[in-house]
Amino acid sequence: MFDSFNRRINYLRISVTDRCNLRCSYCMPAEGIKLIPRERIISSEEIVEITRIAVDMGVTKVRITGGEPLVRHRIVELVEQIANIDGINDFGMTSNAIALPKFAKPLFDAGLQRLNISLDTVDPQRFRVLTRCGELADAVAGIDAALDAGFDPIKLNCVIEESSDEPDARGVMAFGAERGLQVRYIRKMNLATGEFWQVEGGDGGKCSTCSRLRLSSDGKLYPCLFSDLNYDVRELGIKPAIQLALDKKPKSGHRATREFTTLGG
Ligand code: SAM
Ligand code: SF4
Repeated sequence: MFDSFNRRINYLRISVTDRCNLRCSYCMPAEGIKLIPRERIISSEEIVEITRIAVDMGVTKVRITGGEPLVRHRIVELVEQIANIDGINDFGMTSNAIALPKFAKPLFDAGLQRLNISLDTVDPQRFRVLTRCGELADAVAGIDAALDAGFDPIKLNCVIEESSDEPDARGVMAFGAERGLQVRYIRKMNLATGEFWQVEGGDGGKCSTCSRLRLSSDGKLYPCLFSDLNYDVRELGIKPAIQLALDKKPKSGHRATREFTTLGG
Protein backbone atom coordinates (compact mmCIF):
# COMPACT_ATOMS: atom_id res chain seq x y z
CA MET A 1 0.00 0.00 0.00
CA PHE A 2 1.10 3.58 -0.70
CA ASP A 3 0.50 6.83 1.14
CA SER A 4 -0.33 10.14 -0.54
CA PHE A 5 3.40 10.89 -1.01
CA ASN A 6 3.87 7.59 -2.84
CA ARG A 7 5.81 6.01 0.00
CA ARG A 8 5.35 2.26 0.21
CA ILE A 9 3.89 1.43 3.62
CA ASN A 10 4.64 -2.15 4.62
CA TYR A 11 5.70 -1.95 8.27
CA LEU A 12 3.33 -2.14 11.27
CA ARG A 13 4.65 -1.49 14.77
CA ILE A 14 2.33 -2.66 17.52
CA SER A 15 2.53 -1.38 21.08
CA VAL A 16 0.97 -4.22 23.05
CA THR A 17 1.06 -2.48 26.45
CA ASP A 18 1.92 0.89 27.96
CA ARG A 19 3.15 -0.83 31.16
CA CYS A 20 6.86 -1.34 31.88
CA ASN A 21 9.12 -2.97 34.47
CA LEU A 22 11.73 -0.17 34.09
CA ARG A 23 11.52 3.61 34.35
CA CYS A 24 14.15 4.86 31.87
CA SER A 25 14.66 8.54 32.58
CA TYR A 26 14.39 9.61 28.91
CA CYS A 27 11.20 7.61 28.40
CA MET A 28 9.01 8.27 31.42
CA PRO A 29 8.82 10.52 34.45
CA ALA A 30 9.96 9.02 37.80
CA GLU A 31 6.41 8.78 39.09
CA GLY A 32 5.42 6.78 35.98
CA ILE A 33 2.81 7.72 33.39
CA LYS A 34 -0.95 7.95 33.46
CA LEU A 35 -1.78 4.41 32.42
CA ILE A 36 -4.43 3.42 29.91
CA PRO A 37 -7.28 1.79 31.91
CA ARG A 38 -7.09 -2.00 31.61
CA GLU A 39 -10.46 -2.27 29.89
CA ARG A 40 -9.23 0.04 27.11
CA ILE A 41 -6.14 -2.06 26.36
CA ILE A 42 -6.46 -3.74 23.00
CA SER A 43 -7.23 -7.46 23.18
CA SER A 44 -5.15 -10.15 21.50
CA GLU A 45 -8.09 -10.94 19.21
CA GLU A 46 -8.23 -7.30 18.10
CA ILE A 47 -4.46 -7.17 17.53
CA VAL A 48 -4.50 -10.33 15.43
CA GLU A 49 -7.47 -9.12 13.37
CA ILE A 50 -5.92 -5.69 12.74
CA THR A 51 -2.62 -7.32 11.77
CA ARG A 52 -4.35 -9.76 9.44
CA ILE A 53 -6.17 -6.95 7.64
CA ALA A 54 -3.01 -4.80 7.49
CA VAL A 55 -1.16 -7.76 5.94
CA ASP A 56 -3.98 -8.19 3.38
CA MET A 57 -3.49 -4.51 2.51
CA GLY A 58 0.28 -4.87 2.04
CA VAL A 59 2.09 -5.04 5.38
CA THR A 60 4.95 -7.56 5.34
CA LYS A 61 6.91 -6.48 8.39
CA VAL A 62 5.61 -6.43 11.99
CA ARG A 63 7.31 -5.40 15.23
CA ILE A 64 5.94 -5.81 18.75
CA THR A 65 6.90 -3.09 21.20
CA GLY A 66 5.52 -1.37 24.31
CA GLY A 67 5.92 -0.24 27.10
CA GLU A 68 7.69 -3.49 27.74
CA PRO A 69 5.98 -6.15 25.61
CA LEU A 70 7.03 -8.98 27.93
CA VAL A 71 4.90 -7.65 30.81
CA ARG A 72 1.73 -8.19 28.75
CA HIS A 73 -0.31 -11.17 29.90
CA ARG A 74 -0.02 -14.18 27.53
CA ILE A 75 2.51 -12.50 25.24
CA VAL A 76 3.83 -15.82 23.90
CA GLU A 77 0.36 -16.88 22.73
CA LEU A 78 -0.10 -13.52 21.00
CA VAL A 79 3.30 -13.83 19.29
CA GLU A 80 2.39 -17.29 18.08
CA GLN A 81 -0.90 -16.09 16.60
CA ILE A 82 0.81 -13.24 14.76
CA ALA A 83 3.59 -15.54 13.53
CA ASN A 84 0.93 -17.77 11.98
CA ILE A 85 -0.45 -14.98 9.78
CA ASP A 86 0.56 -15.71 6.16
CA GLY A 87 2.35 -12.86 4.45
CA ILE A 88 4.61 -11.57 7.24
CA ASN A 89 8.23 -12.08 6.28
CA ASP A 90 9.87 -10.05 9.03
CA PHE A 91 8.55 -10.38 12.59
CA GLY A 92 10.44 -8.78 15.45
CA MET A 93 10.15 -7.44 18.97
CA THR A 94 11.83 -4.63 20.89
CA SER A 95 12.42 -5.45 24.57
CA ASN A 96 14.50 -4.31 27.52
CA ALA A 97 15.54 -7.99 28.03
CA ILE A 98 14.75 -8.08 31.78
CA ALA A 99 12.19 -10.88 31.37
CA LEU A 100 13.98 -12.69 28.53
CA PRO A 101 15.49 -15.42 30.75
CA LYS A 102 11.92 -16.68 31.09
CA PHE A 103 10.59 -15.80 27.62
CA ALA A 104 13.41 -16.03 25.04
CA LYS A 105 13.03 -19.72 24.22
CA PRO A 106 9.19 -19.78 24.21
CA LEU A 107 9.18 -16.69 21.96
CA PHE A 108 11.64 -18.27 19.55
CA ASP A 109 9.60 -21.47 19.47
CA ALA A 110 6.41 -19.42 18.93
CA GLY A 111 7.87 -18.01 15.70
CA LEU A 112 9.36 -14.63 16.65
CA GLN A 113 12.18 -14.03 14.16
CA ARG A 114 14.12 -11.05 15.44
CA LEU A 115 14.89 -9.26 18.67
CA ASN A 116 16.05 -5.71 19.26
CA ILE A 117 17.20 -5.18 22.81
CA SER A 118 17.59 -1.80 24.46
CA LEU A 119 20.86 -1.39 26.32
CA ASP A 120 22.28 2.06 27.05
CA THR A 121 25.18 1.21 29.37
CA VAL A 122 27.12 -1.79 30.67
CA ASP A 123 28.04 -0.06 33.93
CA PRO A 124 25.77 -1.54 36.67
CA GLN A 125 25.61 1.73 38.61
CA ARG A 126 24.79 3.79 35.50
CA PHE A 127 22.18 1.17 34.50
CA ARG A 128 20.46 1.66 37.87
CA VAL A 129 20.47 5.43 37.38
CA LEU A 130 19.29 5.39 33.75
CA THR A 131 16.50 2.85 34.32
CA ARG A 132 15.76 4.09 37.88
CA CYS A 133 15.13 0.54 39.10
CA GLY A 134 16.84 -2.00 36.84
CA GLU A 135 19.73 -4.41 37.40
CA LEU A 136 22.24 -4.75 34.59
CA ALA A 137 22.78 -8.42 35.48
CA ASP A 138 19.12 -9.15 34.66
CA ALA A 139 19.40 -7.51 31.23
CA VAL A 140 22.66 -9.37 30.48
CA ALA A 141 21.05 -12.66 31.54
CA GLY A 142 18.19 -11.84 29.15
CA ILE A 143 20.56 -11.12 26.26
CA ASP A 144 22.41 -14.38 26.88
CA ALA A 145 19.10 -16.26 27.02
CA ALA A 146 18.16 -14.73 23.65
CA LEU A 147 21.48 -15.89 22.17
CA ASP A 148 21.01 -19.37 23.63
CA ALA A 149 17.49 -19.54 22.23
CA GLY A 150 18.89 -19.00 18.72
CA PHE A 151 17.87 -15.43 17.85
CA ASP A 152 20.12 -14.14 15.08
CA PRO A 153 20.70 -11.32 14.49
CA ILE A 154 20.11 -9.61 17.81
CA LYS A 155 20.47 -5.84 17.62
CA LEU A 156 21.21 -3.62 20.59
CA ASN A 157 19.44 -0.23 20.66
CA CYS A 158 21.56 2.24 22.57
CA VAL A 159 20.24 5.72 23.39
CA ILE A 160 22.97 8.37 23.37
CA GLU A 161 23.06 12.02 24.34
CA GLU A 162 24.97 13.24 21.30
CA SER A 163 27.63 10.88 20.07
CA SER A 164 28.51 7.22 19.85
CA ASP A 165 31.86 8.18 21.36
CA GLU A 166 30.34 8.70 24.83
CA PRO A 167 31.69 6.27 27.48
CA ASP A 168 28.36 4.41 27.88
CA ALA A 169 28.02 4.03 24.11
CA ARG A 170 31.57 2.74 23.74
CA GLY A 171 30.97 0.24 26.54
CA VAL A 172 27.87 -1.08 24.77
CA MET A 173 29.82 -1.38 21.50
CA ALA A 174 32.54 -3.45 23.23
CA PHE A 175 29.89 -5.62 24.92
CA GLY A 176 28.16 -6.15 21.56
CA ALA A 177 31.43 -7.01 19.81
CA GLU A 178 32.19 -9.70 22.43
CA ARG A 179 28.87 -11.38 21.70
CA GLY A 180 28.63 -10.68 17.97
CA LEU A 181 25.69 -8.28 18.34
CA GLN A 182 25.05 -5.24 16.13
CA VAL A 183 24.64 -1.90 17.92
CA ARG A 184 22.34 0.87 16.68
CA TYR A 185 22.68 4.29 18.26
CA ILE A 186 19.57 6.38 18.81
CA ARG A 187 20.02 9.99 19.80
CA LYS A 188 17.77 10.95 22.66
CA MET A 189 14.61 12.46 21.22
CA ASN A 190 12.07 14.84 22.60
CA LEU A 191 8.58 14.32 21.23
CA ALA A 192 7.24 17.53 22.78
CA THR A 193 9.81 19.84 21.18
CA GLY A 194 10.09 17.84 17.97
CA GLU A 195 13.78 17.02 18.36
CA PHE A 196 14.21 13.83 16.42
CA TRP A 197 17.09 12.25 14.59
CA GLN A 198 17.88 9.48 12.21
CA VAL A 199 18.92 6.22 13.81
CA GLU A 200 22.62 5.44 13.28
CA GLY A 201 22.74 1.99 11.69
CA GLY A 202 18.93 1.79 11.27
CA ASP A 203 16.20 3.21 9.04
CA GLY A 204 14.16 5.08 11.68
CA GLY A 205 13.70 8.82 11.42
CA LYS A 206 14.04 9.15 7.63
CA CYS A 207 10.74 10.78 6.71
CA SER A 208 11.23 10.57 2.93
CA THR A 209 11.38 6.77 2.99
CA CYS A 210 9.24 6.08 6.07
CA SER A 211 7.29 2.84 5.66
CA ARG A 212 5.57 2.68 9.06
CA LEU A 213 2.19 2.73 10.67
CA ARG A 214 1.89 2.38 14.44
CA LEU A 215 -0.85 0.82 16.56
CA SER A 216 -1.16 2.00 20.17
CA SER A 217 -2.18 -0.29 23.01
CA ASP A 218 -5.58 1.42 23.14
CA GLY A 219 -6.32 0.62 19.51
CA LYS A 220 -5.38 3.80 17.66
CA LEU A 221 -3.43 3.91 14.42
CA TYR A 222 -0.79 6.61 14.32
CA PRO A 223 0.68 7.40 10.90
CA CYS A 224 3.69 9.23 12.36
CA LEU A 225 5.67 9.06 15.62
CA PHE A 226 6.12 12.82 15.61
CA SER A 227 2.50 13.81 15.19
CA ASP A 228 -0.63 13.49 17.34
CA LEU A 229 -2.76 12.38 14.36
CA ASN A 230 -4.44 9.09 15.12
CA TYR A 231 -7.37 6.99 13.94
CA ASP A 232 -9.33 4.87 16.39
CA VAL A 233 -9.77 1.37 15.02
CA ARG A 234 -12.70 0.65 17.34
CA GLU A 235 -14.61 3.78 16.31
CA LEU A 236 -13.84 3.76 12.61
CA GLY A 237 -13.45 0.06 11.82
CA ILE A 238 -10.13 -1.54 10.98
CA LYS A 239 -9.89 -1.02 7.23
CA PRO A 240 -11.18 2.59 7.23
CA ALA A 241 -8.76 3.45 10.08
CA ILE A 242 -5.82 1.96 8.15
CA GLN A 243 -6.89 3.77 4.98
CA LEU A 244 -7.19 7.11 6.82
CA ALA A 245 -3.80 6.64 8.48
CA LEU A 246 -2.35 6.04 5.01
CA ASP A 247 -4.11 8.98 3.35
CA LYS A 248 -3.24 11.41 6.16
CA LYS A 249 0.31 10.26 6.88
CA PRO A 250 2.27 13.53 7.09
CA LYS A 251 5.17 14.21 4.75
CA SER A 252 7.37 14.66 7.81
CA GLY A 253 6.95 14.74 11.59
CA HIS A 254 6.89 17.84 13.79
CA ARG A 255 6.08 17.23 17.44
CA ALA A 256 3.74 15.21 19.62
CA THR A 257 2.28 15.43 23.11
CA ARG A 258 2.53 11.70 23.90
CA GLU A 259 4.99 9.67 25.98
CA PHE A 260 7.32 7.24 24.20
CA THR A 261 5.49 4.34 25.85
CA THR A 262 2.31 5.05 23.87
CA LEU A 263 3.91 3.86 20.65
CA GLY A 264 7.18 2.29 21.74
CA GLY A 265 9.50 4.42 19.59
N1 SAM B 1 10.51 -1.46 26.55
C1 SAM B 1 11.09 -1.81 25.30
C2 SAM B 1 12.51 -1.34 25.20
O1 SAM B 1 12.92 -0.47 25.98
O2 SAM B 1 13.21 -1.83 24.32
C3 SAM B 1 10.28 -1.34 24.10
C4 SAM B 1 9.66 0.03 24.15
S1 SAM B 1 10.82 1.37 24.19
C5 SAM B 1 9.76 2.78 24.32
C6 SAM B 1 11.37 1.35 22.51
C7 SAM B 1 12.63 2.10 22.22
O3 SAM B 1 12.40 3.49 22.40
C8 SAM B 1 13.80 1.73 23.14
O4 SAM B 1 14.90 1.32 22.34
C9 SAM B 1 14.10 3.02 23.85
O5 SAM B 1 15.47 3.14 24.11
C10 SAM B 1 13.58 4.06 22.89
N2 SAM B 1 13.29 5.34 23.51
C11 SAM B 1 12.50 5.61 24.57
N3 SAM B 1 12.50 6.95 24.86
C12 SAM B 1 13.33 7.51 23.95
C13 SAM B 1 13.75 8.86 23.71
N4 SAM B 1 13.33 9.89 24.46
N5 SAM B 1 14.59 9.08 22.68
C14 SAM B 1 15.04 8.05 21.90
N6 SAM B 1 14.67 6.77 22.07
C15 SAM B 1 13.84 6.50 23.09
FE1 SF4 C 1 10.39 0.83 29.66
FE2 SF4 C 1 11.47 0.66 27.24
FE3 SF4 C 1 10.59 3.02 28.21
FE4 SF4 C 1 12.74 1.94 29.29
S1 SF4 C 1 12.53 2.63 27.14
S2 SF4 C 1 10.99 2.81 30.42
S3 SF4 C 1 12.32 -0.20 29.12
S4 SF4 C 1 9.35 1.28 27.71
